[in-house]
Amino acid sequence: MYQSDLLPLREEIVATAQRAYREGFMAATSGNFSCLDKTGQYMAITPSGMAYSVMTPEDIVILDLNGNVIDGQHKPSSEWKMHEEIYRHLPQYHAIVHTHSPNATAYAVLRREIPCVLVEMLLFLGGSIEVADYASQGSAAVGTNCLPILRRKPACLLANHGVVTAGETLAQAYTNSIYVEDAAKIVRLAMSTGCPIPAVIEEEGSKPYGISI
Ligand code: 13P
Ligand code: ZN
Repeated sequence: MYQSDLLPLREEIVATAQRAYREGFMAATSGNFSCLDKTGQYMAITPSGMAYSVMTPEDIVILDLNGNVIDGQHKPSSEWKMHEEIYRHLPQYHAIVHTHSPNATAYAVLRREIPCVLVEMLLFLGGSIEVADYASQGSAAVGTNCLPILRRKPACLLANHGVVTAGETLAQAYTNSIYVEDAAKIVRLAMSTGCPIPAVIEEEGSKPYGISI
């Protein structure tokens, strides 16, 4: 069954994933992207292990939140449980982007937080970018371990793995992943010359306001 009403969602996922690939946020077929439909019952997600250059809207897999394939000819992303955990526990998010963007992933493999040194980090990301505890790839624990961070801010690093960002929309989630990678790059550059100084004191519980570009 091909659900044509979800076509705009499928098209947006493919366009965003291909943009992220072109912008160097993933190598080969790594990373995955998802959105909830209007009812919040279904998740549209990228297929597992497919090259972004050949991905089309028909390749996007539709799942219910128990992981049952409602529509799709491919296996859903191997990280569907991570996406599902986040949607189930944090209803403020309707879109999730997972990348292995290189500068941010360098922090993830060091299991080191990216300090809040830029105003955009406070405005979009809610401050520093913290590292979620390690969990094996594809397990629900990848998502569960993100929850304490994503409850407070829309981005985190996955230990020894990559980056997860979330938003009300896919555009917002992707914008957040751009700011994560940019922050990692700038902090690394600053550290090659000196010691970056945190610009602002984070207020506990302060809410970031995501702006889509
Ligand atoms: P999938 O191709 O199964 O989505 O896996 C990519 C990935 O990044 C796993 O963490
Ligand atoms: Zn990954």
